[in-house]
Amino acid sequence: MLKVSIMEDAMTATVAPAARIPGALPLPDLYARVSRHVPAIEWPALAPDIEAILRLKRERNAVILAHNYQAPEIFHTVADIVGDSLALAREAVTVDADVIVLAGVHFMAETAKLLNPSKTVLIPDMGAGCSLADSITAEDVRGLRKKYPGVPIVTYVNTSAAVKAESDLCCTSGNAVAVVRSLNAPRVLMIPDEFLAQNVQAEVPDVEILTWAGHCEVHERFTPADIRDVRESYPGVTVIAHPECPPDVVAESDFSGSTAMMMDFVVQKRPSQVVLVTECSMADNIAAQNPDIEFIKPCNMCPHMKRMSLSNIRRSLETLTHEVTVDPALADRARAAVERMLAVRTR
Ligand code: SF4
Repeated sequence: MLKVSIMEDAMTATVAPAARIPGALPLPDLYARVSRHVPAIEWPALAPDIEAILRLKRERNAVILAHNYQAPEIFHTVADIVGDSLALAREAVTVDADVIVLAGVHFMAETAKLLNPSKTVLIPDMGAGCSLADSITAEDVRGLRKKYPGVPIVTYVNTSAAVKAESDLCCTSGNAVAVVRSLNAPRVLMIPDEFLAQNVQAEVPDVEILTWAGHCEVHERFTPADIRDVRESYPGVTVIAHPECPPDVVAESDFSGSTAMMMDFVVQKRPSQVVLVTECSMADNIAAQNPDIEFIKPCNMCPHMKRMSLSNIRRSLETLTHEVTVDPALADRARAAVERMLAVRTR
């Protein structure tokens, strides 16, 4: 198996753009998209919410941006744009709608609001947080700035707007290597994901990367033993790990990249058996359109992503809640950090 690094991918391969889902299909066609994951007996309970959401989107001139970790019944039926954090951030700028519903977690909705200050941005459940975003505060970043004067601070998008506002620029798992390289600096602070920073360090040995001890509660649970077990049970299986995994897990994998890069890799290389070392819905969403590829567990669920449901998306559109706002005192600085990231060429 060809070993492909996140740097090689970031520098040379196609970074998967967000996918724009074509206009609403009739309900039976929508069911066909998710029939591998939604039993027929459950469909009648979901269909009324789907119909209502499709109607409400038209009435509100709304779009739904859904992260790749959303469940298939959201991802394949009501979402207008799907992708990873980078793709959603890019697409958020181009959205022609009055209302954006973010089916994902809170920092993603904040990023959409930063890039679309005049639009109403909604998140169906305000409790959809993130262990990485919770691991660092704006005060922490100010402390790092004092401790390491002159060292540029690259902040993962999985952070609050307040943390972004204290940073020089943002990155995602899809462009982290390219962002660090773009700085031409001998030392870079990369916060808050320690494992992403260590995985990037392996790709840019000429730069000293200083880290913060934040972790994704989903990806930190994978171990090298998990990978070895799956290889023993499924000889020849292709292993793809998200760079939020510990470096020893990434080292055991055949490829590492953002969720969009994972999708790209699977669709282009078409391995007969693959394990995606990431959140469980990733495999479900790719499998729905690639029935010839066998997806092997293990995977872990993100409890925050799973707070999204068809019923709370419907309620969000009905009541225009929960609206996500960003403190104007820090919005311009946070937006600048995101826009500097978007200006970095990834290939
Ligand atoms: S998968 Fe990890 S990084 Fe993503 S939202 Fe969940 S806790 Fe945060």
